[in-house]
Amino acid sequence: MATAETLDPPCAQIDFDKFARVPLCHQPTPIEPMPRLSELLGGPRIFIKRDDCTGLATGGNKTRKLEFLVGEALKENADMLVTQGAVQSNHVRQTAAAACKVGMKCHVLLERRVPGRDPSYEETGNVLLDNIFGATHEFREAGLNMNAEAEAVTEKLRAEGHRPYFIPGGGSNPTGALGYANCAQEIADQTKASGQHFDWLVMGTGSTGTQAGLVAGFHAIGHALPVMGVSVRQPREHQMSAVHALTQKTLEKLGATGVPLSKILVDDGYVGEGYGIPADTTLEAIRLTAQQEGILLDPVYSAKGMAGLIGMVRRGFFKPTDNVLFLHTGGATALFAYQDQILGTL
Ligand SMILES: *Cc1c(COP(=O)(O)O)cnc(C)c1O
Repeated sequence: MATAETLDPPCAQIDFDKFARVPLCHQPTPIEPMPRLSELLGGPRIFIKRDDCTGLATGGNKTRKLEFLVGEALKENADMLVTQGAVQSNHVRQTAAAACKVGMKCHVLLERRVPGRDPSYEETGNVLLDNIFGATHEFREAGLNMNAEAEAVTEKLRAEGHRPYFIPGGGSNPTGALGYANCAQEIADQTKASGQHFDWLVMGTGSTGTQAGLVAGFHAIGHALPVMGVSVRQPREHQMSAVHALTQKTLEKLGATGVPLSKILVDDGYVGEGYGIPADTTLEAIRLTAQQEGILLDPVYSAKGMAGLIGMVRRGFFKPTDNVLFLHTGGATALFAYQDQILGTL
């Protein structure tokens, strides 16, 4: 039973009706306890917000962003979505599926961002699913400005008579981030209804839209839940300023005041050798979450996020009485592209 002290104070509501939006997402996604993982680690109580269950094409965090992005594309009378990502991008897969659902074409640029992969990496996992959804793709070598590349391709397609709508990598602009402001509202509504209080929210952070949307959403409704991003790629300072910049732009879109940089919390201790390269802690997080809770994480994002959470538990970052919510951002379809590394660690 919730007592007055455990209840979060009442929050404001964001009016999302003023933004164009298409329904793509199963929501609200469930919040579930992780009792066996919590017990094994012997720390705070861990819960999981199941955004791997958003429904579209096996789910994941990009679906919430795409509700607003595709809403804008329809408003602009586009007939094609153009975006970019790494070869095993979950964002590309969900965008390809969203295009099918609204009857648009989809063209994508895939960056060969991860070194040393064998040729099957470009055919299995998410790439297989992109093809099933009928998306056309072209590859780029690592290190280019991929949003600039994709915008140039968008202009070329427009000149050829298409009506393309450009979505930046990860769907991370203020429109896409609205999807996670909406998730912040959803978490506040769920905790209000259940009487559950959370002390921390933890997740993997990459192209920044998820963390920026959450921080903006919680700030706009006056909810105090701190959001800890575990970097999957960039060093801490770089990630913090990128998340902060998008948070401010998203708050502006919401008509709310800004937040100081100190509100943006990032841990970069779990990146390992780089983007898309699982570290030992990543592989351990996949194994523990699967074998304790029956839940699949992915080797690029969500397992780095969970490795961060596990590491924070082990170094005593949380109080033993804390309730820690992990945001599962999806991505398990990429497991098949990492079979070689995972099999040896089980
Ligand atoms: C894209 C992605 C993330 C990171 O979200 P950003 O908004 O890009 O920071 C996390 N987990 C998964 C599975 C993703 O596909």
